[in-house]
Amino acid sequence: MNELRQQLHNLDQRIESRVQAIRAERDGWLCKRGCDYCCRHLDHPPDLTAIEWERVDAAVAQLPVSEQAIVEQKINALLQQIAEGNLGLSVVCPYLNEQEGACRIYDARPIACRTYGFFAARHEEQYCQQIRDEIAHRGEGTIVWGNAEAIRKKLEQIGGAAVSFEQHYGD
Ligand code: SF4
Repeated sequence: MNELRQQLHNLDQRIESRVQAIRAERDGWLCKRGCDYCCRHLDHPPDLTAIEWERVDAAVAQLPVSEQAIVEQKINALLQQIAEGNLGLSVVCPYLNEQEGACRIYDARPIACRTYGFFAARHEEQYCQQIRDEIAHRGEGTIVWGNAEAIRKKLEQIGGAAVSFEQHYGD
């Protein structure tokens, strides 16, 4: 594993330990397989650092050919929508298996997907309405959110600036 991949992997581990801590404090935390709410309500298809794109591309290349064709179709449809300025408000991620409500590239998913629902930044919640409802119902009490700003800075150190979806697939 080269140095950058190792650093990205270390960041995954750091995030995972916060995720596990929140899960342990709150049984039945909503972010789990079967809930694909955030994957269906993106503002824009993923913009990722080069090292994350490398991991995503490798994972897509490992999918069965029929699955790769579906992902490719979705990517092309999104590229066309972007070119036409017609993206809409809720973008469905092209890597989502919509029938199963599961990520096709789960082990290679971007850092933002790993932190969403478990991390927060000052003045910036990073979770959906369902988590908001959970907090309103049960209180914020035991939740120690991960520090999203620290993760963002670390990712920038590792991977540099994000490369947009259209730039990545347009090249
Ligand atoms: S990459 Fe996977 S986890 Fe992230 S938004 Fe897409 S489907 Fe969801």
